[in-house]
Amino acid sequence: MRQSKLFTKTRKEAPKDEVAKNAQLLIRAGFIHKEMAGVYAYLPLGIRVLEKIKRIVREEMNAIDGQELIMTALQRKELWERTHRWDDSVVDVWFKSELKAGGEVGFGWSHEEPIGEMMKNYVSSYKDLPVSVYQFQTKLRNEMRAKSGIMRGREFVMKDMYSFAADEETHLSYYESVKPAYMKVFSRLGIGKETYITFAAGGAFTKFSHEFQTVCDAGEDTCYIDFEKGIAINEEVLTDETISSLGVSRDSLQKVTTAEVGNIFNFGQQKAADLGLVVKDASGTEIPVWMGSYGIGVTRLMGVLAEKFADDKGLVWPREVSPFDVHVIALSGGNEDVRAEAERLYSELTDAGIEVLYDDRDARAGEKFADAELIGIPTRIVVSEKTLAQGGAEFTDRKTGTSTFVSESAVLETLRKDR
Ligand code: ATP
Ligand code: MG
Repeated sequence: MRQSKLFTKTRKEAPKDEVAKNAQLLIRAGFIHKEMAGVYAYLPLGIRVLEKIKRIVREEMNAIDGQELIMTALQRKELWERTHRWDDSVVDVWFKSELKAGGEVGFGWSHEEPIGEMMKNYVSSYKDLPVSVYQFQTKLRNEMRAKSGIMRGREFVMKDMYSFAADEETHLSYYESVKPAYMKVFSRLGIGKETYITFAAGGAFTKFSHEFQTVCDAGEDTCYIDFEKGIAINEEVLTDETISSLGVSRDSLQKVTTAEVGNIFNFGQQKAADLGLVVKDASGTEIPVWMGSYGIGVTRLMGVLAEKFADDKGLVWPREVSPFDVHVIALSGGNEDVRAEAERLYSELTDAGIEVLYDDRDARAGEKFADAELIGIPTRIVVSEKTLAQGGAEFTDRKTGTSTFVSESAVLETLRKDR
């Protein structure tokens, strides 16, 4: 894409009321627009990052037989009444509205109830199971605090998956298979080593749920981690009993600030029993289905990546989710040969399937470099009078700042090696 056509412009200052580093940088670089506290729009650069995160999540959910669908944002009151979760004193994040035709609706903050209800149309026998379905949905939550930028939105994108099984063994084995699938997602995003499967508050059926907590100063959670054993405990459930049941000791645990990037929950048969989602087992007896739910905070992840990898010059994207693979910068200063070479390189790379942001603007070198650093694409390629005379281009790694000269014939190969 030609940067001269990109409608967003970088800006020196973030809005005064924006206190989170992730949102400050993302707004300044033109990835997001702040509509109001906790509500952000995703602009062309931002949506490219978001879609790449979603693609990784989608691939890993498909790999464990997840089937993608999309549920509705408007939800029925009576469904949530059945599971006693319509009341604001039980669920404190509801947005609700009244229909002009009469009756109340809720805006989806979660989809266990509607998905469980929908499944009744498709499963009636144990032979119809197991099934796992997932979606990417904009969730609406009336969060009290919204000071963490896109890490805590009142409107945010979640991947939520729900599993249905006819027996406990199948159910538990699916639940366990989600853990490595999630860790693959986080590894591909470059935060695998700093993301811990964490014991967290359970529910009616299980003592614990499992959260995926990424070490991040801007996070809102506190975990206690035994780094040697790789065991992490959310402070919500940190008791002497928990500590000893997990075979760790208080001394081995370090207090760490983290961001919850995912959460998996085992409902046993309770949720389906409340909803009346039953199947006939092999003996013909009706039994409630075993259910699990599995969330990943897609937009929160984008915020975590922004927070964790940024430096004092701006954003630094992991290659897998960068809005573009390379940022080609023409420093022509009116020299037509330089411009022609930059144009040629832009076409060559684009034709080779490489995603290029091409800074073809008529601007000073300093401004172009500062923008490139703020936007954070991993590889910058400069074409100037100097590089043209040398018969190549200058590559700079955004993370390390290291520059190397690459001759014209080696440009494509060098980029392919990076990928
Ligand atoms: P939190 O404890 O942070 O409020 P939660 O436990 O309510 O989150 P879940 O309902 O488990 O969240 O949602 C699944 C995932 O969605 C979370 O692990 C988190 O990554 C993400 N998420 C939850 N709330 C928000 C929010 N307000 N903004 C952005 N992402 C969120
Ligand atoms: Mg949670």
